[in-house]
Amino acid sequence: MQYRSDSTTQEVTAYLGMGSNLAGPVEQLNHARKAISALYGVRELAMSSFYHSPPMGPQDQPDYVNAVMAVATSLPPLTLLRSLQSIEHEQGRVRTGERWGARTLDLDVLLYGDQCIDLPELTVPHVGLTQRAFVLYPLYEIAPQLHVPGKGNIKDLLAQCPLSGLKRLD
Ligand code: ATP
Ligand code: CA
Ligand code: CA
Ligand code: CA
Repeated sequence: MQYRSDSTTQEVTAYLGMGSNLAGPVEQLNHARKAISALYGVRELAMSSFYHSPPMGPQDQPDYVNAVMAVATSLPPLTLLRSLQSIEHEQGRVRTGERWGARTLDLDVLLYGDQCIDLPELTVPHVGLTQRAFVLYPLYEIAPQLHVPGKGNIKDLLAQCPLSGLKRLD
């Protein structure tokens, strides 16, 4: 039997979108950051500032706090997604069926290396990436040279995207 040590395991850089608008959004994101780092096969590379943004979809809900985290991971994409969904669940996310409704925690896989993934459960790059200021601005903050597979350079994408009420928190 052969073992590979961690240092030789193939790692991919993934970018994760984080959002919360219930039950102390800043604390929710800080807690999620620790939970993500604590996952086996995932380590933090960078964390953006936190941003305030008005909700998408239903307007009768609080503003969101959003951020983007870069990780190095040896987990396959679907395993990473399911691990993030368990963290959402642990932090009290209740799936009501309402699209874009209020939630304690939303964790999305924005990018997984330079891969394009089109599975029933997982689309990468994330579908909202190019239109959403609360994704593009924090992503640009931690990866200003990033190329988004099939979409272009982050800087060019950002130039096309209005701020839409996004504000960086102090
Ligand atoms: P949006 O995807 O538009 O940001 P949302 O985050 O509110 O909306 P959810 O209810 O959290 O949507 O997720 C719905 C489904 O999206 C999940 O069950 C998951 O399987 C699927 N999904 C597809 N691609 C991704 C991705 N890149 N990251 C996270 N979930 C994804
Ligand atoms: Ca870890
Ligand atoms: Ca989302
Ligand atoms: Ca989601």
